[in-house]
Amino acid sequence: MNKDIPKKARVARAATLLVLMLLIVLATVFFFWQRENAKPYLYSPNMKTLLYHLVMDEPYSQYHDLFVREGDFEAQLLEIKRLGFETYFADEPERADGKPGVVITFDDGYIDNYTTVFPLLQKYNMKATIFLITDMIGTEGHLTEAQIKEMSESGLVHFGSHTVSHTKLDTLTEYEIQQEFLHSKEYIEELIEKPVTALAYPNGIYTEKAQTIAMAVGYRYAYTTDMPYDAYYENSRLPRSYVTRDMAYEDFLKLLELSS
Ligand SMILES: [Zn+2]
Repeated sequence: MNKDIPKKARVARAATLLVLMLLIVLATVFFFWQRENAKPYLYSPNMKTLLYHLVMDEPYSQYHDLFVREGDFEAQLLEIKRLGFETYFADEPERADGKPGVVITFDDGYIDNYTTVFPLLQKYNMKATIFLITDMIGTEGHLTEAQIKEMSESGLVHFGSHTVSHTKLDTLTEYEIQQEFLHSKEYIEELIEKPVTALAYPNGIYTEKAQTIAMAVGYRYAYTTDMPYDAYYENSRLPRSYVTRDMAYEDFLKLLELSS
């Protein structure tokens, strides 16, 4: 028995060393993983994210605020250009790197995004991101699959998810939220054959659970409808400035103002 003790001790020492090494490797991996995931999105005051819905002269619903007039929209695009802003996609806002930039976003995937907005983006060579409700694709007043594909192939429009059914997330179970985020992502990815990494919460309603689920199913950026007021935002709750129909021109300019 006594003869066995040194051998056992050696084995124990080797095992301890192995476990220690494993722990060090795991701790290192965890450290870098955590650091990467905890990295706050630097909400540069030079980076503005605008939120639109429809660009249409005559509103057809009671939600007048959603309908920005075509002439106003074109003037706003020209103003963005005149001020020297580059436009960026909602799934690559970090490319601004401190340089002045504007992210133009549209929610819900209305048909005017193709008939009115897309020609203007082409005319001025500007980028925009459209957040699609996948259940609405191809229904009356909404974008069709062919239009989405054409815009995606132009390189001027990126697409994000606005969930499958646009249900308010605070009324859903965690499982249902996960399904809404995942199935819409998969649907659009299959359609445009590109990764979909940006999400916009329906009605701007989000919860901490929804933020966690969004990142867990593979989104990198999730947008709210909160106006920007902070210097830093998590990737899972990025603010946007709402452009409304009757907004005074000076108020639109304020949305683009550089605060540094
Ligand atoms: Zn919406």
